[in-house]
Amino acid sequence: MSAKLLDGKLLAQNLQAGLKAEVDALRAKTGLAPRFVNIVIGQDAGSGSYGRSQKRVAEAVGIDYRFAQLPHTVTQEELLDQIHFLNNDPAVHGIMIHKPVPSGIDFQLAANLVSPGKDLEGLNDVNLGKLLTGRTRIIPCTPASVMAHLDSTGLDLSGKDAVVVGRSEIVGKPVELLLLERNATVTVCHSGTSKAGRLAEHVKRAEILVVAVGRPGFIRGEWVREGAVVVDVGINEVDGKLVGDVEFAPAAERASFITPVPGGVGPVTAVMLMKNGIEAFRQQTGVGI
Ligand code: NAP
Repeated sequence: MSAKLLDGKLLAQNLQAGLKAEVDALRAKTGLAPRFVNIVIGQDAGSGSYGRSQKRVAEAVGIDYRFAQLPHTVTQEELLDQIHFLNNDPAVHGIMIHKPVPSGIDFQLAANLVSPGKDLEGLNDVNLGKLLTGRTRIIPCTPASVMAHLDSTGLDLSGKDAVVVGRSEIVGKPVELLLLERNATVTVCHSGTSKAGRLAEHVKRAEILVVAVGRPGFIRGEWVREGAVVVDVGINEVDGKLVGDVEFAPAAERASFITPVPGGVGPVTAVMLMKNGIEAFRQQTGVGI
């Protein structure tokens, strides 16, 4: 392997240390600790690994992180009441809704009722819309993790050919906007690109390659441009093991930097959630904005 590994655990630790110092300073100024609430419907909040790792990161940073546990029988209306209650509670600075939600619940409708100023995940339509104009500091967490990995390489993204494979609202589209804001020249590929038989051609041009598709080993190593930076967002389980969307070993022979799966984008995502929440806390308390 010739690529340098973009170690998400190490990056998360470094970012976490910075956030802890920030929370300590905010606490000294306001006498308050940021409080975040994760609304969990139907599952045991403590049993899910994402919820557990968020709580661990939050506590390490000095954030008061709580679960609001709702039964799986909860109605959309009852969920909305709970969100409304938390929106109006001045002691709560950040709110998120744990996924997956039961089939009777409309996640995006609920996410849109979270006050944009308390939106930990950055998935509220208002914050997604502001991403378009570059006017929000609340950034969807996984795209923020992708950008943190790219920044950790020290490379200037300006003018680079960036190819994003996948155009979901939670990953591909926000990554596109964030890369554009950094003056990369961005191409977004999706199922239509593959149907037209043109995916490999685009991937082969990429100096920056971000993949979020959800298909194991979907991007062939031989397509990766020599010296490319590869950020693999995909998480797929194959024979009980987690693998990404990029064929790791052959891609790592050609890339200059590459994220592993697991241990790449994932660990930094939870830290970005805390970063959003600290920004929300600043906006609500008026400290340092
Ligand atoms: P998603 O909503 O299912 O979107 C998948 C995207 O891949 C779609 O835009 C789809 O294109 C595209 N796609 C599907 N088949 C394709 C093909 N043959 N050629 C080109 N593009 C194709 O998935 P997501 O939520 O973005 O998640 C993607 C992956 O990232 C999953 O493995 C997920 O588990 C992982 N993930 C990881 C994190 C993390 O923190 N590490 C967070 C979120 C997601 P169309 O739009 O044309 O259908």
